[in-house]
Amino acid sequence: MTTGPHIPQERKLVTAIPGPKSQAFIERRSAAVSAGLGMSFPVLVEKAGGGIIVDVDGNSIIDMGAGIAVVNVGNSADRVVENVQNQVAAFTHTCFMVAPYMGYVEVCEALNRLTPGTGKKKSALFNSGAEALENAVKIARRFTKREAVVVFEHGYHGRTNLTMAMTAKNMPYKDGFGPFAPEFYRMPMAYPYRWPGGPEKCAEEALDVVIHKIEKELGADRVAAIVIEPIQGEGGFVVPPKGFIKGLSDFCTKNGIVFIADEVQTGFARTGSMFACDDEGVVPDLMTTAKGIAGGLPLAAVTGRADIMDSIHVGGLGGTYGGSPVACAAALGAIATIEEEKLVDRANHLGSIMSDALNAMKKKYPIVGDVRGRGAMQALELVLAGSDEPNPAALTSIVKYCQQKGVLILSAGTYGNVIRLLPPLVMPDHLLKEALQILDEAVAQAQ
Ligand SMILES: *Cc1c(COP(=O)(O)O)cnc(C)c1O
Repeated sequence: MTTGPHIPQERKLVTAIPGPKSQAFIERRSAAVSAGLGMSFPVLVEKAGGGIIVDVDGNSIIDMGAGIAVVNVGNSADRVVENVQNQVAAFTHTCFMVAPYMGYVEVCEALNRLTPGTGKKKSALFNSGAEALENAVKIARRFTKREAVVVFEHGYHGRTNLTMAMTAKNMPYKDGFGPFAPEFYRMPMAYPYRWPGGPEKCAEEALDVVIHKIEKELGADRVAAIVIEPIQGEGGFVVPPKGFIKGLSDFCTKNGIVFIADEVQTGFARTGSMFACDDEGVVPDLMTTAKGIAGGLPLAAVTGRADIMDSIHVGGLGGTYGGSPVACAAALGAIATIEEEKLVDRANHLGSIMSDALNAMKKKYPIVGDVRGRGAMQALELVLAGSDEPNPAALTSIVKYCQQKGVLILSAGTYGNVIRLLPPLVMPDHLLKEALQILDEAVAQAQ
């Protein structure tokens, strides 16, 4: 499979990481850019494609992050580049609410077709995941005429004011940024590895606790929406056991609550189905998408039941740039690539290579407490050997080792102890296997 700039698909180091040109860049960056922005991998990028990022010092790095599950189709995928080039040459912006264009409608049609459920659906487009979440909450509140919104421990939904109230983790996402929006209620998450009653009882017990709290503490008839990531992203790739998501969705249906699946990270073939909800046949009332939607251009969406999406007065939704013609052209290229290159199957294939390698590490290394994920979204949770105490020091050491060897991996987790793997779905097998071999060495040296 070759899509995107034809960069040799091999890891190659010609300097230390960061090399001299990257080091000079990092100084310039610090002088100009707010200290509030982190940096996972300290190099200056020159180009990227397939599973490789090339830096200005000439190093070729294996990309196990895909820009946080964004370039599922690879960087600068052929169809994305072609569509974007044609679109910028034709027109760059009219504002969809001022003078409309076809790309916006085609993206909405594609989303209505691809998301779970056969009922009539409609969509609205925005710029970022957080903005999609904000709008999903607005829509659910207006439709139900209720205010309370249920969210979950370890959940991540963005960094704007409304979404900070929805996001669980204080540091770094919320600390000192309050006050936060009212009427968000955080519930226990079905986290099998850390469920007090053990993984077997997790689905049933977690569902009982959540429903009990909603009924007795909140009042089900006060709840506008339940918002959950079907597999949690930043929270550490927590995969709820079968039955939990379905149980929540059924509870919503019974109680007139809008069930919102946040598929910003899990969407667009990442988990080995087009959307993670497909796995259990759950049909959310509304779904938020972003990240993988447009091959790297900023675009996000809310898609769902037409009666809910149409309950909003004219002018109640929108934004200057939401559904920009350039981002829509990119999305149509990315979606065509996912379908034509069968990237859902590819995600399952890469996923089985990853889970085999990670499970082998779990057998060998006592600091690997848990291996979990679905499709090309796989993680390791690191603990102190012989316990389930989080081991963030091992994470730091592993990330550093991989960095020095030219492998970009991302961290996650409420306890800062999860390694998450999110390769572009077009990564060739040999690169993935090489990255996993280096990760194995990294875990071995962190014992
Ligand atoms: C990244 C993410 C968001 C926020 O998206 P932005 O585009 O960064 O605003 C929301 N929800 C989930 C599940 C995410 O992974």
